[in-house]
Amino acid sequence: MSPSDPPSNPYESLGVRRRINAAGALTRLGGAVMAPEVMAAMAAASRASVDIGELQDAASSRIAEATGAEAGLVTTGAAAALTLAAAASIARWDVAKMAALPHADAFPRDILIPRTHRTGYAHALAASGARLVDIGHNDRGTGAGVRGLEAWEIETALTPSVVAMVFSVNATSIVDLPTAMAVCRANGVPLIVDAAAQLPPKENLRRFISMGVDLVAFSGGKALGGPQASGILAGRRDLVASALLQQLDMDVAPETWVPPKMVDRANLRGVPHHGIGRGFKAGKEEIVGLLTALDRFVKADDAANNAALEARLKAIAAALDGLDIKLVPARQTGRVPVLEIAVSDALAMSARLQRNDPPVHLSERHAARGVLTLDPQVLLPEHDAPLAAAIRAAL
Ligand SMILES: *Cc1c(COP(=O)(O)O)cnc(C)c1O
Repeated sequence: MSPSDPPSNPYESLGVRRRINAAGALTRLGGAVMAPEVMAAMAAASRASVDIGELQDAASSRIAEATGAEAGLVTTGAAAALTLAAAASIARWDVAKMAALPHADAFPRDILIPRTHRTGYAHALAASGARLVDIGHNDRGTGAGVRGLEAWEIETALTPSVVAMVFSVNATSIVDLPTAMAVCRANGVPLIVDAAAQLPPKENLRRFISMGVDLVAFSGGKALGGPQASGILAGRRDLVASALLQQLDMDVAPETWVPPKMVDRANLRGVPHHGIGRGFKAGKEEIVGLLTALDRFVKADDAANNAALEARLKAIAAALDGLDIKLVPARQTGRVPVLEIAVSDALAMSARLQRNDPPVHLSERHAARGVLTLDPQVLLPEHDAPLAAAIRAAL
């Protein structure tokens, strides 16, 4: 076995079962399945010593190219990127604030969050020491009304304690992004966008930055196909630099420290200590792996990939003849094509599929309306036939 050959199944010796994943690149199921090219780049990266700050500077240039942002940082995931984005908004260049986080009650630390955007990942923002301030209403989400976020609601909440606003973007919420952008811009408040799972389409790499947002977070281990524990924070150079400083290993002598190029040392009163992000360091393997995956993702032919996925979905649907199945094309999902399978009790069916050998996962995202979604984003082609057989058996 050459060093580039991985052991055929490292999970077997651990007694951990491989699963058939038609639920998407979910973090709890291991995220993306990496291309051999990404794996090889990570293995090669592991065989050398490099300055991580210098490597992050190089990553910044690549991420800037791919996103149109001024700068970028490889993080250990979108959740880590959100914590760092919040920490950067609070501390900026202030090393004393960097040293204090997550204890931030002595200085401005409020982050505005629309009520419709409060996801489980709000915890990642709060972990920085930020205080989340809820704004707006959830009329659309509850079906009580038609109105989204309004400019005056944001303006009213903009006190001197506010350091940033966060926006969880998706196909539904994006209509409110220009409003949030305009108010934040006019008031000099950074807008942080959680776009963790908004890839594909690859146009979204540039979309939010081109709309003028200050920071955007993407997952590296979902559709990007990078290492599972990787992500991107892209945006304004000063904020990305602050985030980087709070993530780097800072056990350095001020006399010999060579800061990353994106850090303008004249802005710093001193040399920061280990920051709030030190516990989520991105390693050389993750950084190189993420950049390799990003390059592949940018160059990929989305139309051809979606056509190939559609052909596979049609074959699976044909094998499930007789079921109530709908193929939803990529242009409608905004990502990849999926099959929607209507069943009488979606969660009971999902539980049965997970008891299959090997366990099978369909997406439960529409279970509330009696639908299990077959999402082929990371489904291995050799799993298509056993997947169809398992669905038949579970019915
Ligand atoms: C997956 C996800 C995250 C977290 O991403 P990781 O890369 O796993 O840290 C954050 N926000 C949203 C909306 C997500 O879907």
